[in-house]
Formats: sequence, C-alpha cells, structure tokens
Amino acid sequence: MKAVILAAGAGERLAPITQTLPKALLPIGSESILSRQIRQLAEHGVQDVYIVIGYEGGAIREYLAASAQPCNVYLIENPSYKTTSTAYSTLLAEAHVSGEAFYLLDGDVVADGLVFEKLAVLTGNALLYQEKSISSPEEMKVAEDGGVVFLSKTIEDERALGEFAGIARISAEASSAFFTALNKIAQDFYYEVAFNEIASEFPFALETLTEGSWIEIDFVTDYLQAVRMFTEQRDAATPAISEQVLLCPGPVMVSKKVKSALLHADIGHRETEFIEILTRCRAKLNQAYGVTGKDYTNVIITGSGTSANEALLSSYGPGKKLLILSNGEFGNRLIDLARCHELDVNGINFGWANKIDLSKVEELVATGLYDALMVVHHETSCGMLNPINELGALLKKYNVDFLVDAVSSIGAEALSVEEANITFCTASANKAIASLPGLAFVCGKKTAFQALKEQKARTRYLDLYKHYEYEALTFQTPNTPAVSLFYALEVALDELLQDTVAARKEQYSYLAGLVRERLKKLGMQFVIEESDMSCVLTTVYYPQGIDVEAFHDWVKQNNYVIYRGKGPFLGKAFQIANIGHVREEHVLSFLDMMERGFQMTETTASVTH
Ligand code: PLP
Ligand code: MG
Repeated sequence: MKAVILAAGAGERLAPITQTLPKALLPIGSESILSRQIRQLAEHGVQDVYIVIGYEGGAIREYLAASAQPCNVYLIENPSYKTTSTAYSTLLAEAHVSGEAFYLLDGDVVADGLVFEKLAVLTGNALLYQEKSISSPEEMKVAEDGGVVFLSKTIEDERALGEFAGIARISAEASSAFFTALNKIAQDFYYEVAFNEIASEFPFALETLTEGSWIEIDFVTDYLQAVRMFTEQRDAATPAISEQVLLCPGPVMVSKKVKSALLHADIGHRETEFIEILTRCRAKLNQAYGVTGKDYTNVIITGSGTSANEALLSSYGPGKKLLILSNGEFGNRLIDLARCHELDVNGINFGWANKIDLSKVEELVATGLYDALMVVHHETSCGMLNPINELGALLKKYNVDFLVDAVSSIGAEALSVEEANITFCTASANKAIASLPGLAFVCGKKTAFQALKEQKARTRYLDLYKHYEYEALTFQTPNTPAVSLFYALEVALDELLQDTVAARKEQYSYLAGLVRERLKKLGMQFVIEESDMSCVLTTVYYPQGIDVEAFHDWVKQNNYVIYRGKGPFLGKAFQIANIGHVREEHVLSFLDMMERGFQMTETTASVTH
C-alpha cells in the first residue's frame, strides 16, 4: 500500500509558530506531526510514503534524512506551493501512484492509532469524517446528494453530514480517473473537487471518526489542543479545559480565530501598530453600539465590566443628582458603586426579578430633581430585559441624561445608543461580543465626554475624561493597555459585525427556545415571565428534591459549566446561558445530560417547584 501526504502549505494561520518551521514538523510529544503520520501508516501496512513538500521543504528533507524511517519515504517538491492549491500538489504524485490504491492525507492532521486501523481495513474509495462537528467556513464539509458523496466548504450546516478529516483512500479502480479529474480542474482548487468529479462512478464509503480521535491543525489553539490530546500532558482524570462547554453568561467560549489572535507579533503600545488597532477597534465598537452618525464615540478601558461602570459613575457622577433603578444584582451593584464614590444617589429597588414600573419612574423624573438615570439593560442575575427604549423616550421628554449598563446585552440584544438617546453606555468584551475578558467600554455622546472636562476626577486610572482625551484626541491609552486583548477583540467584532447583531439575536433566541421548551416539558419553573427574558440566558428553579451541589458537580464532570443562582436565587435556581460559541449540539446534549443529572441527584421526589 502507498500513501501521499500533502505537506507543502505555509500554515499561515499558525504564524508565528510556523515562521521558521513547517507545520508538518511541529512536535506532538517526542515526534513531529509528519513522523507520527509516517509511523502510523507504516504500522498499518504502508510501504511507500510520498510527501509533497513546499514551504520550508528543505527543513523537512533534512529532518527526515536525520533519522531512519519505518518505511520508504519519497519527497516530491511543489516549487509553486504559494500560488497553487492542494489539487496541484496531489497531481504531483500522479506518476508514483496513479492506477494503484493509495491513502491521501492532509499533512496537518493528527490522529490516534485507531483512525489508521479504520483506514487499513477499507478497500474501495473511502473517506473519513467527523459527524456534525462545529461548523466553520474554514472546514471542508461532507454531504450526500441522491446517495452521491460530495465535499465543499460552503455546505450549510443542516445539509452537512460532518467535517472531512483530511484522510481518504482512493481505490486502484478509481485512481487514474481521480488523476484525470485533478488534471481537468484548475490548479487553484482543492483536491476534494476531484472526489466530487468521480464520486458517482466510483462511490465513496464514509467512515466516521469520533471527536477527540483526530484534529486538524489550522490555528495555534488546534496545535495546543493536539498536544493535550495526544501526549502525556493530557490528564485522564480531568477533561482538557477546552473540552468544557461554558453555558455561563460570560466569560464565554470564543472562536478559534479569536483565541489565535492572541499570538501576534510583539508591539509597542506607543507605536503606530497599537494606534491602528485601537482606532479600528473603537470604530467597530461604535457599530456594535448601533452608532450610525457622528455624535457618539467610545473609549476602551483595560479592566472588567465594572471598570467601565466605575469610570462612568466616578467621573460623571460628582455634583449630579442620580436616580439608579435596580431589579437585581447588577442594578444593586450600580447603586453600590455610586455610594462608594459618595455620589448623591437615589437607588430605587423594585426587587429582584420584578419589572421596572415605568409610571413610578416617570413620577420621580418629573420632579425635575434628577440630572441622570442609570439602569442595567439586561439584568443578568435573573435574565430580565429592561425597557431601555421606553426609558430613553421618557428621559428625553424630561431632558434627563441616560446612563445604561449594557454589559450583558451588547452583541445579543437590539441596542442602539442613538435610538434610545443614551448619554453613556457601558459594556465589556467577554459576554455576547464573544471575546476574551479584560476590556471594557464606555460609548457616549461626544458632547457628554467633552463636558466631563469640567468634572474633578475621583480616581486616576478610571478618569473617563482622561481616557476620552487620550483615545479620541491622541489615539492612545492613558496607561499600558492589555495589547493582546485588542487583537482578540478586533476579530470578535469582525465576526459579530459580519454575522450582524440581528442574526446573532435570532440564533441565541433559537438556542434559548430549545432550552425553555425542554424545561417547560419537564414542568420546571422560570424565575421571570418568558416574555420578559432576554435571548442570552434562562434562569430556572431547580426541581424540588435534588441535591443542588451534586447536580452542579455532575454537570461539571460531564464537561458542562452552568451558573449558580445569585442573591435570593442562591441554591434555588440556576442559569443556562447560550451566548458565545455555544452550538445547538451543545445545548441538546446538555439538556439530555441535565435530565439524567436530575435523576442521579434526586434526594426525594418529583420534578415540580
Ligand atoms: N453589569 C452586568 C449587567 C453584568 O452582567 C456584569 C457581569 O456579569 C457586570 C456588570 C460586571 O462585570 P464584570 O464582572 O466584568 O466586572
Ligand atoms: Mg488545514
């Protein structure tokens, strides 16, 4: 048996790791990806391995020459690897394998030995794929049309059977037709297009791989994961961190691309490189806040969401009369912040999970006593969406400033600072914007930022005017920024703006709908009316008679992380959030597992509250 390994690519998405090393030579424990593939092929009956090299091909040649190989290894050079695609690289092996059966492997696939066992028992054309893995426009997907297999990166999720693992077997009968097809297709195509060309005449058998038995290394995070999966670094007792599914209202799971953005070249924060990324992030952030005109700007502060709230209240608040509304933990925290800075505040507490009484608010605002009102857009502690547009209209009528904490709604719920006539609006990176924690934002009217010049700051680090002055006027930050997080943020904002907030809201609502339908079917009770809930999360009472901590642990052991209730819900309710990179499969398997968890941790009886 023969095999062809495609190892010519530059692995640009793995830069800077691949700046001097081709992907195939990245170490997985004591061997490289390539020598691991060669060993596994040899162990499963392959005698001749043809490796197509290009980027850093010399390094591969030297590496292989430096040690004895378990089978015959031949190198084929693709000098035009930069401008050609995998179809062209594969074609270069034609003279060696055409007319014979052979395995075709992507050089960036790391798999366990079982995968090669599967391969070794196959006879006709076959390809390996993983059922319904996480969707991404990067991945080659497998589908069937009228019983004929075809592969493409642009198959919608619903139609895709799963993700092609980059491992296939071409039969002796199909081999020359495969090369004829490769010759026919343009050289900038993927070799998978040639599979499609021959699939009706020479059908492909499909073999499934389980998650965790293989991985394709595109991004740095894939590489780190591969090392965890296939070396001693993996601790069998505790699941790899990245295998946990976070159903928490932030920090959330982020895309591979967002994580990979952390590996950027080192830059100085007073140099143009940082000025550029800061400026781009601020422009994109404005879009996320629904800004269309020129009246609003924003600042990015290195800190958690609270740093934005504290910068706002401590900078804007002195000398003002504030009305802060609360219906849960995060409203209470705003009142607490105002008191901490000894501001003149009237904190109105409607009670946890109670709706804001707009007539009561109007009564207070109409007194003319207040300069500003502050409220949380989405009260994360119970999942209630507060009526910011109605409040905005009301405050406009009475000419009162409007301050909003949108930490857990931005990116998921419709939010336009212009439409709601918001003066200042805070948010953070690590919830529905789906980036990493550590950056917080204040978006506000330019005139309002400028007016802060007259205020005496109460803190140095969180002086909002100083942030505005630096960021808007000199495109710098007053202090050392968390540089790497800006790289991640920009990718997350790109992904958000490309998807659109409206489409994200639709997707989150769909996921939340799956959760809510199942909980209702089980007879469980929500802490608020469904019509008042955001699309971000669901807060539900535990069924009676279960051991709450045992349930939480059981869920965790199964690699899911849910959120415990706070305040009056502590020990009584829990939260299932569905923002960030939570997929339908995650939600569905969590719900099944949750049901089993209730049974396992039941101490007395029945699922009612
Ligand atoms: N405001 C709201 C609405 C929140 O949900 C949170 C955190 O969950 C915060 C403020 C505080 O954010 P951080 O914990 O990042 O300081
Ligand atoms: Mg790849």
